[in-house]
Amino acid sequence: MSQALNDAVHWADLTADRLIRQEDKETYTLASGITPSGVVHFGNFREVMTTELVARGLKKRGKKVRFIFSWDDYDTFRKVPANLPKQDELSQFLFQPIVDTPDPFGEHESYAAHHEKSFEAQLKKMGIDLEPIYQSKKYKTGAYKEQIKLTLAKKDVIAGILNKWRSTPLSDDWMPVSVYCEKCNRDKTTATSYDGHNKLNYTCDSEDCKHTGSVDLDTTSRVKLPWRMDWPMRWSVEKVDFEPGGKDHSSQGGSFTTAKDIVSEVYGWKAPMYLQYDFVSIKGMGGKMSSSKGNLVTVNDVLDVYEPEMVRWIFASYKTNIDFGLSFDLDVIKNYEDFDRMERMAYGIEPGNDKKVAMAKRVYELSQIGDHPSEMPFQPAFRHLCNVLQINDLDIKRARSFYTNEIKNERDERRFQERALRAAYWIENSAPEEFKFSLNKEPVKIEMNHKESTFLYELHNFLKSEWNHITDDKMLHERMYEMIHAQELEPMPVFTLLYKKLIGLEKGPKLAGFIRTIGMERVLKLLVP
Ligand SMILES: [Zn+2]
Repeated sequence: MSQALNDAVHWADLTADRLIRQEDKETYTLASGITPSGVVHFGNFREVMTTELVARGLKKRGKKVRFIFSWDDYDTFRKVPANLPKQDELSQFLFQPIVDTPDPFGEHESYAAHHEKSFEAQLKKMGIDLEPIYQSKKYKTGAYKEQIKLTLAKKDVIAGILNKWRSTPLSDDWMPVSVYCEKCNRDKTTATSYDGHNKLNYTCDSEDCKHTGSVDLDTTSRVKLPWRMDWPMRWSVEKVDFEPGGKDHSSQGGSFTTAKDIVSEVYGWKAPMYLQYDFVSIKGMGGKMSSSKGNLVTVNDVLDVYEPEMVRWIFASYKTNIDFGLSFDLDVIKNYEDFDRMERMAYGIEPGNDKKVAMAKRVYELSQIGDHPSEMPFQPAFRHLCNVLQINDLDIKRARSFYTNEIKNERDERRFQERALRAAYWIENSAPEEFKFSLNKEPVKIEMNHKESTFLYELHNFLKSEWNHITDDKMLHERMYEMIHAQELEPMPVFTLLYKKLIGLEKGPKLAGFIRTIGMERVLKLLVP
């Protein structure tokens, strides 16, 4: 992961520099947006993180940032997601605004609010501070009524732009607006005529409705701009300088291409600087999580396994146009090791070439939530922490006593608590089976030949008398080999014997270190000859 960036300057800083070169000013407006049509998942999160990192780039250069986040909750509820309760009730609200659909969990004022509040809480955990804009409120309070009239007045210009990319051109009576029917609240309607001022006529195409109506654009809240017009219209209203977009919006003739022309030719503004981001996939999602949630992984799910700074680090480590997979399997250990190495490099504790160290420092800054610690936080190695936790039946309090001397301040404490919680969660929910063990509570009897019995007797004696003189794993490892050879035994069967006595398995963590981590009292009890 640390190899993913090779440039001298981070992409977030390069983007900030480009924005400043384009126009040097005090405050920049950066925008992101998501439609709360269902659970907002981890793939959507790249939309926010991309903007967040560019915001950090601008702030580092002394600029102010207005980070707006558009909840497109006046969009139509098009599909009932399979993972939600009350499917039948929800399906009655199809084609109505998402904001008018009830929360199937009964916790929030609407379906939209349920997903919005949940995601906003997750953003907070990630240290992201933004200004949400609820598009339903904007539309319902008439904030865009002049823009809607302008859009209707310039419908031929818009049709001309859209037709450049269409195989069949839009018909002459096409209208660049959608209307939520006053009678059934669905957008299965056709706008039939516009008087050039404020009157728009429409018919409802729903079989069970067929309402014909007329709305006053100065007072109605039922007219909405479809996405291709809505997006550039909002750029002009909010004066957006930067906005990222997913692959689906970025193709030739896709919504960004047409929005760029529409914003200048219709709304008299310019397109923001645009950065396309690629997909994020999830690897090694096993056990509990996948069965209950299908393929949807949220920021919360990721935070169950990774510290928030690590999640930010992962995004900061990849250029936006590179897709990456986030692992829940054995790679979790490697990711923790990579993060720790980057952190040591950022603090000058681990050497590296100048370019690498400079990039590690910047990526580390970008991954921080709150103040940058002046001293490097304590790094409990993830693999070892997993062993300590399992030796202590996943009891974090007991595991902490192993690290008492290393936890020196509040940041160390937070690091230990956050990491231990995640390691325990990972072991219980997605670690591979061969990684899991629990320490035997009582000694187990195992058939041994004479040589093996003698070896065990000698090892027990050695550990009992010399425990406090064993200074490192290597020393114990070498002594064990000497004792094994003295009995003319093969190492592998002996190790198997010891693992069986300690954890009832044939294999386990590296033995010498493992014995020392378990501690004298319990080792002597379990290895009693
Ligand atoms: Zn209707």
